[in-house]
Amino acid sequence: MSGLNAALRHILGAGGLLDAPGDIAGYRGDLACPEGSDILGVVRPRTTAELAEIAKACMAAQVAMVARGGGTGLAGGATPVGDAPCVLISFERMHRIRSIDTVGNVMIVEAGCPLQQAQAAAAEAGRLLGLDHGGAGSSQIGGNLATNAGGNNVLRYGMAREQVLGLEAVLADGTLLSQLQPLRKNNSGYDLKQLFIGAEGTLGLITAAALRLRPAPVRRTTACVGLSTPEAALALLARAQSLLGEAISAFELLPRAGLDLHFRHVGECGEPFEPSTPWVVLIEADSASRHFDLDAAISEVLEGAIGDGLVLAGTLAASEAQRQALWRIREGIAVAMIETPGALKSDTSVPIAAIPAFIAQAAEAVARVAPGAVPVPFGHVGDGNIHFNVLPPPKGDLADFRRRAPAVARVIEDISIALGGAVSAEHGIGLLKRDALRRMRSTAELDLMRALKRSLDPSGLLNPGKILEV
Ligand SMILES: Cc1cc2nc3c(=O)[nH]c(=O)nc-3n(C[C@H](O)[C@H](O)[C@H](O)COP(=O)(O)OP(=O)(O)OC[C@H]3O[C@@H](n4cnc5c(N)ncnc54)[C@H](O)[C@@H]3O)c2cc1C
Repeated sequence: MSGLNAALRHILGAGGLLDAPGDIAGYRGDLACPEGSDILGVVRPRTTAELAEIAKACMAAQVAMVARGGGTGLAGGATPVGDAPCVLISFERMHRIRSIDTVGNVMIVEAGCPLQQAQAAAAEAGRLLGLDHGGAGSSQIGGNLATNAGGNNVLRYGMAREQVLGLEAVLADGTLLSQLQPLRKNNSGYDLKQLFIGAEGTLGLITAAALRLRPAPVRRTTACVGLSTPEAALALLARAQSLLGEAISAFELLPRAGLDLHFRHVGECGEPFEPSTPWVVLIEADSASRHFDLDAAISEVLEGAIGDGLVLAGTLAASEAQRQALWRIREGIAVAMIETPGALKSDTSVPIAAIPAFIAQAAEAVARVAPGAVPVPFGHVGDGNIHFNVLPPPKGDLADFRRRAPAVARVIEDISIALGGAVSAEHGIGLLKRDALRRMRSTAELDLMRALKRSLDPSGLLNPGKILEV
């Protein structure tokens, strides 16, 4: 491979190729699968043109290319696997915001730009980028698009896919596909950009995107509600939608076990309600119009729901500090799950109306497969995406729980499928959900996916072993 190394150094210049073991150690995996197989090096292009040359050199040497964003993925997508020679393509030096257009409401951002930086640049221009999640600080725009990330505001603004007006990508053979025209209407043949969104780097390398911006909200209200059942959460969502309409931007369900986990994890108590409250819902609504009195609307929702006994208690954040404190609880549950040894993270979705049945059936099935394990079903009610996470039994044998974990994941996925849901709602398939994908998708669908892969990447050099075997 010394010929390829020399070619890459020539394209990239000094510092563009990392191949010393100490330099590449931190790149070889994501949060779900941190230890990937051996790699030849980490390639760090600065421009799209450099990346196109890199792809041509890798194609000539038949070396695989695994795209790596911030490494915050939760499905093993960025983790190299297998014995074939491979380089990681890191986008960390392609992080520019190329332009912001406040008339057309679009920003053109390079793939390596962290989501949070793109959000901040939009905010500075008086606009909103409608994508947000707990990994915003480290994850990159390219990774977010490649996984079609979701997060807290999907209810209002849609998933990553729905933010994309145009895309620039490099194909396996180095061909550049530039579709950055930010057109709202473009029915000129197939919408090729969609192929790369959610494809986890298996069909092409995303280098930049034209992202839709919206007017920045000038009013925002955040409420926290205690309730007894997931059914009550759904009834509350319907009521809130009838008074607030599309202004609702988040509707997050937090279970008692998740609240306890978070407060244990951070070593403090910030209970919003009685510590015995079984479920808490965090509701946020925003508006770009100062004429929409969101506080009055949400107060009416809460007063009515408390009066009717639908909810146990409710409170409005009276300041930005209080709002952030509530969101810290929500995000703290996600962080505590990631940092708890052995905790099983799940990412299925079901039709919204099936959420209570999903939670009840999954809890029953988990108790059967891993007695004593603690379900922590939490997350995005408005999208039908409840993360049915599971903690090891508090005083149980961790090794035993780890052995049972695949069976636990399987029953949760199977219940989602049976209820008409999906095995991956927002984290992608990567390595971890390949078997589940086969159980969920029809033969016709899988065949079409393989045909697309063969046609765009005939040598199988782009992120081999991910999503599906070809
Ligand atoms: C605390 C926390 C909370 C999170 N909450 C959410 C959440 O609510 N919703 C959600 O959806 N996710 C969430 N995530 C997961 C994660 O942030 C997303 O999956 C994110 O989209 C991954 O981006 P990344 O840049 O880290 O990608 P990586 O992990 O580096 O890569 C992910 C996949 O994208 C591919 N890829 C990366 N860059 C490119 C590119 N330029 N071109 C082509 N392919 C590429 C990789 O090969 C890999 O397959 C959370 C993570 C954390 C740590």
